[in-house]
Amino acid sequence: MNKTDETPEPKRPREKAAPAPRAERRLIGIPVSAGVAIGPVFGAAEPQTVVSRAKIAATDIQAETARLDAAITQSRKQLLKLRARLGILPEDSQAEIAPLLDAYLQMIGSSRLVRGVRRRVADTLVSAETAVVDETDALAEAILTLPGDDDRAGRKRRAEEVREIGRRLIRNLTRAPFRSFNALPAGALLVCESLRPADAALLDPSRLAGVATDEGGADGHTAIMLRALGVPAVLGVAGLSQAAKPGEVIIIDGVTGVVTLNPEPATLVAARRAVTAYARELQKLASLRRLPSVTSDGEVVELQANLEIPAELPLIAQSGASGIGLLRSEFLFMNRETLPDENAQAETYRSIVEAMSGDPVTIRVLDWGGEKEIEALQSEGVVPEAADLNPALGMRGIRLLLRETDLFETQLAAILRAAVAGPVRILLPMVTTVAEVRTAREIYERVIRRLRRRGERLPEKAPPLGIMIETPGAALSADALALEADFFAIGTNDLTMYTLAVDRGESEVSNLYDPMHPAVLRLVQFATEAALRMRMPVSVCGEMASNPKLMKLLVGMGLRSFSMNASAVPRVKQAIRALDIDDCARFARRVMEQSDPLRIREMVMGTPPAG
Ligand code: PEP
Ligand code: MG
Repeated sequence: MNKTDETPEPKRPREKAAPAPRAERRLIGIPVSAGVAIGPVFGAAEPQTVVSRAKIAATDIQAETARLDAAITQSRKQLLKLRARLGILPEDSQAEIAPLLDAYLQMIGSSRLVRGVRRRVADTLVSAETAVVDETDALAEAILTLPGDDDRAGRKRRAEEVREIGRRLIRNLTRAPFRSFNALPAGALLVCESLRPADAALLDPSRLAGVATDEGGADGHTAIMLRALGVPAVLGVAGLSQAAKPGEVIIIDGVTGVVTLNPEPATLVAARRAVTAYARELQKLASLRRLPSVTSDGEVVELQANLEIPAELPLIAQSGASGIGLLRSEFLFMNRETLPDENAQAETYRSIVEAMSGDPVTIRVLDWGGEKEIEALQSEGVVPEAADLNPALGMRGIRLLLRETDLFETQLAAILRAAVAGPVRILLPMVTTVAEVRTAREIYERVIRRLRRRGERLPEKAPPLGIMIETPGAALSADALALEADFFAIGTNDLTMYTLAVDRGESEVSNLYDPMHPAVLRLVQFATEAALRMRMPVSVCGEMASNPKLMKLLVGMGLRSFSMNASAVPRVKQAIRALDIDDCARFARRVMEQSDPLRIREMVMGTPPAG
């Protein structure tokens, strides 16, 4: 029986008996985390996701089919995106990768595979995941035992393609982490199509030498996480996961954004030199740790660190940062089946506050939404399974917390309890209106009263309640918001994204993502001036704060506090110590007179724009 008669056979290059040695190939992506890494590629192919078999009731067929359809649409979108980006690769690379992606796209279309999965859900009353596993197994088996075809290698390859599509569908159905990193050998370079922020949080930087992916943007949360872990990384490298073969040695250059496949001996020698030079530079920078962060004319500039996961605490201690300016609490909610309760959260916050030994800690309440997926919020029914049509503009940050007040109150209570261990501030994400801050403060005060009634030990003075300025709406209402908030933290990542309408994690439009665009700078300036007029603390905690070259401009605007990934602190301190305040103010005035982003880049970075 020929079970595969309807599965189209894609066009593919003819197979050669003995492959010729492959030439060195350089692919370019977005450098997101500095350092150079040399090592073997860790499995570019997806491992099988473990799926527990499940039956469904007849009344659930429609809902289950809808889940399946959503996963098919998502898979199709992912593949089309990969296909569209191949254009920037050299022709020989395109010729190698395109047929494979076409084969996947055909299989995810109206194919025998998709129809078979749908039929299994309806006829045998099993979950979509179970149906995918059963159908791909049956189809792969049928291909392998196809009569009258002695192209065994070809059959094996087609069976593997069917399984690969099955794995993609299951990943999109279960939203399972992209891969398990348990088997990652020490010194390996992780190469994959995309890496979610939650997956990046699971990486062990002591084993992992570098990361490179096909997808991703400069200031997405995956990039932020990789910088935080100090792992050299390049994202947005079109075609990489198909071109890089598991086990082969490649070079990832997190400074230039070049990923070299099949490096020639001379390229390897140069890369090894770069690794040594980078390590030496880090050692030199470490000597700045004990020096104060002051300008050459004696003005103190506060440099704090951002923290995503507690594992970063030792890096923060080594960096010389004078506190945590942004604790992104969402990472404490990720990669777990249930939400952490008040005690568990209080314990985590307290241990971080204690570890900072009296240095201030700014804890941002949960900023769910956008690309930050949290399974436990979905499984506990707090947020819907299917994402909003436009998640970055939907139920995100403070909006969710004001709707799910239990979630908000639990977190506030936990933070308040931890605040007896040291100076703490509380930060609200994604604020756009004055009303949000007022309502949040009412809830905050209610929680304080409740904890007092419960006899909890609390700090004498309630921790300040501040807001992120990360939407154009907040920046332009900064004067009104300054009357409600106790401090501002300017989040330039989202501010850039929302101002320029460019997704910060999207490689295809990454050339338009420009924090130095005059529109973004004017909003930063407007918010800063509103805070300074009120004598209210204001800091920058977006990725702009970790760029030493931007210090002259930002200090010139009047900013005196920055929070950044820990590894950036020494370099930023070095830049601060070379500044003169009057000079900065003059420079900022000149830059802010400009309206051409390229001219601004030239002035700030000190180099003429490319192209
Ligand atoms: C920002 O948007 O700049 C910010 C600091 O918040 P996050 O990166 O966590 O969205
Ligand atoms: Mg943000």
